[in-house]
Amino acid sequence: MARRRTVINFAGQMTIPFEEFGNAHPIPAPGESADTANDNPATRVINYISFGSGSSGNCCYVGTRHGGFLIDAGVNAEEVTDGLKANGVKLEQVKGILLTHDHSDHVKYAYTLLRTNKHMRLFCTNRVLNGLLRRHGISKRIKDYHVPIFKEIPFRLAGTEITAFDVPHDGTDNMGFSVNYDNRNFVIATDLGAVTERARYYMSRATYLVIEANYDLQMLLYGPYPEYLKARIRTERGHLDNTDTAAFLKEIWSTELKYVFLCHLSKDNNTPTKALRAVREALESRGVTIGDGEETLRDRQADMQLIALPRFEPTRWYVFRP
Ligand SMILES: [Zn+2]
Ligand SMILES: [Zn+2]
Repeated sequence: MARRRTVINFAGQMTIPFEEFGNAHPIPAPGESADTANDNPATRVINYISFGSGSSGNCCYVGTRHGGFLIDAGVNAEEVTDGLKANGVKLEQVKGILLTHDHSDHVKYAYTLLRTNKHMRLFCTNRVLNGLLRRHGISKRIKDYHVPIFKEIPFRLAGTEITAFDVPHDGTDNMGFSVNYDNRNFVIATDLGAVTERARYYMSRATYLVIEANYDLQMLLYGPYPEYLKARIRTERGHLDNTDTAAFLKEIWSTELKYVFLCHLSKDNNTPTKALRAVREALESRGVTIGDGEETLRDRQADMQLIALPRFEPTRWYVFRP
């Protein structure tokens, strides 16, 4: 086994080197050009696809030319693998699954995916793993695939550098991820009741941001949920509502932010129209022009693209160019 060593990166934080993960992409040899030094934009793309978002199942794929990984595994494993293949991703290129927390809409299919793709690893904190092991219906053998990660300690995977950061929610040890590649940041924070200081730090540096817009307050208040559940959703360890997300985005917006994907929209307490309108109005009041992410001429002229992730269907295959 490789001797454990740590690397101090530019930010003064510890980095777990590639060798820690047997199947991860190796560090480029001296003299080999890093992606950032590569002038060819085609080799520096970041790919993204969401296979589902919301309480019925969450899963997305993020990839580079070095391979990629899934974030969460709450969508039927067959749909995910078919969706990857349909977009030309070979399963051998998928290094593993990162988990944001242990709620079943994020972990249900993790073991099925790992068992059928034995090269994949499960990247989560020890506390998230323990949360998983306490769940009925998830094989204890899932721990054989586990690679422990630690919040705020970057690790490298598929040519990217990933940092997990704490978010407040009522699962076990909840987190978002910031994925750095080619000086751009793909950041995801799904299932969070409030934007805390660390979450704000990472999200305000995003080039591509997936952020929760769970509910419309009026729909929740006058909707069918029992009072205890309404209260749970509204706490700091629950979910973000449209106006919170809109106000936060208005506050942090900068020209660096190119795409915002609203995620985890409630089926009962929200609609894509309401979520999109709230965010669009907030940003437009700052003078930001918004596109629909369809790459039309109008979209290309806009400052930023705004998309609400569908609950069940996969999105299109996004290609983020430098
Ligand atoms: Zn969830
Ligand atoms: Zn959750």
